Amino acid sequence: MAKVLVLGAGISGHTAALIAKRELGKKHDVIVVSPNSNYQWVPSNIWVGVGLMTPEQVKFKLAPVYKNKGVVFKQALATSIYPDGDTGNEKAFVEIQYVSEEQKGETERVEYDYLINATGPKLNFAATEGLGPNKYTNSVCTYGHAEEAWANLKIAFEKMERGEKQTFLIGTGHPMATCQGAAFEYALNIAFEVNKRKLNKFADIWWISNEYELGDFGMGGAYVKRNGYITPTKIFTESILKEYAIRWIKQAGVTKVEKGVAHYEKLDGKFYTKEFDFAMLIPGFSGAKMKAFDKADNDITLEIFAANGMMKVDADYTVKPFEEWKASDWPSIYQSPKYKNIYAAGIAFAPPHTMSKPMKSVNGTKIFPTPPRTGMPSGVIGKIIAQNIAHQIKTGKTNHPHKASMARMGAACIVSAGYGIKKGQAAVMTVNPIVSDWEKYPKWGRNINDTVGSIGSSGHWMKLFMHYMFLYKAKAKAFWWLIPE
Ligand SMILES: Cc1cc2nc3c(=O)[nH]c(=O)nc-3n(C[C@H](O)[C@H](O)[C@H](O)COP(=O)(O)OP(=O)(O)OC[C@H]3O[C@@H](n4cnc5c(N)ncnc54)[C@H](O)[C@@H]3O)c2cc1C
Repeated sequence: MAKVLVLGAGISGHTAALIAKRELGKKHDVIVVSPNSNYQWVPSNIWVGVGLMTPEQVKFKLAPVYKNKGVVFKQALATSIYPDGDTGNEKAFVEIQYVSEEQKGETERVEYDYLINATGPKLNFAATEGLGPNKYTNSVCTYGHAEEAWANLKIAFEKMERGEKQTFLIGTGHPMATCQGAAFEYALNIAFEVNKRKLNKFADIWWISNEYELGDFGMGGAYVKRNGYITPTKIFTESILKEYAIRWIKQAGVTKVEKGVAHYEKLDGKFYTKEFDFAMLIPGFSGAKMKAFDKADNDITLEIFAANGMMKVDADYTVKPFEEWKASDWPSIYQSPKYKNIYAAGIAFAPPHTMSKPMKSVNGTKIFPTPPRTGMPSGVIGKIIAQNIAHQIKTGKTNHPHKASMARMGAACIVSAGYGIKKGQAAVMTVNPIVSDWEKYPKWGRNINDTVGSIGSSGHWMKLFMHYMFLYKAKAKAFWWLIPE
């Protein structure tokens, strides 16, 4: 009997666990370790953040789903990996610390034959002074944060209803933050809600971003086909912001937040401030910061993880100039080069380099987005890792029949504003591949026929449909596996 241990029950880990169990059946164990008793469909937190959905609508309890499918669930945090076991114990294991009510603080060693690290991002609010829900800004990164953001946003709306002006600042809260798409979507949703309430003359909405040009989205921007014309995402994005009456600040690295004021440095090396009444700024992301130890208890964390805590996989991490970066640098099987039975899925894997051109201010501050790993690639990566592990367990072979490089796979980004069937529209951008490949597509970096931008209500309906479809799939209801990632 083989043991597959999955750390994290987010989009990539939950997908990996369900697929591994389906492929391996009762003969083998699939164990999930994750601190939150709930699964959350993170993309819909945007709607929680504007009061259009409740946290209950975007989450559900994991334990009954895992029980039903025969997956073992431990509500705990993984703290350390021992890939060679330790003295007197040959078997690899992960040390975990329970956070559930019943077992809070207890630790356990969970042995594994295969390990999937799908611990996602650590929301590193601490990297920016004054940032975050416990300080001076809001977040929509979790349903809890989003619920709190809505409570604060409601206060701003009430003030505007009483005739008070309000300034909204939405965007990135760290010079190297990613996830621009989510913040952008939240900005549009606020603008939509302001418009719906006819409060426009009281609202001053600002987009603040570490992107060199708007529309970079951490993928170095793209050229999209729109109404038959090739349009840079810079123009696409700026026109959307204009339409929603949102002004912008770009090339800005937020370094500190105080009550009602954000401090930022721009690539020009000058320091600025922006006052706000309500801010939602995305923090920097790092890995979960687990430790790793060899058999003799020596710390081997940096052999397995990159300095940011994300796990090293089959990527080319050689440091080289931007001009020499290649699509083939990106991983395709997400296997640790040091331990062949360890894999990393979703945001947990360390990208070989950024997709956006690295930029430094004249003071040496790095101001540019790190690479996003959105829901679809995270799910696909979780799936192929599970399939490859199941293949190896079932056949005894060590090859990987399933591959999923972000430089070969496409993705869709739907930025939807409003809610319901009748109200709402979305900007839809599809890119193929996610990581541009200038060798294969020398003209546009991507396949221009699949790299498309559009605005309208159909994308909005798609986003709403996806909310219900992906929650259905995550609940592992009938024929869940037929729904693509
Ligand atoms: C507000 C918002 C909106 C978004 N909208 C979209 C969208 O519209 N479309 C899209 O494609 N993408 C969207 N994204 C991105 C998408 O949510 C991520 O790509 C996706 O969640 C990444 O999946 P993951 O499994 O890597 O990480 P997560 O989904 O973050 O899962 C990580 C899991 O690991 C657990 N964990 C953390 N530390 C440990 C530990 N030490 N031990 C064990 N478990 C641990 C966490 O509790 C969690 O269960 C959005 C993101 C945000 C924040």
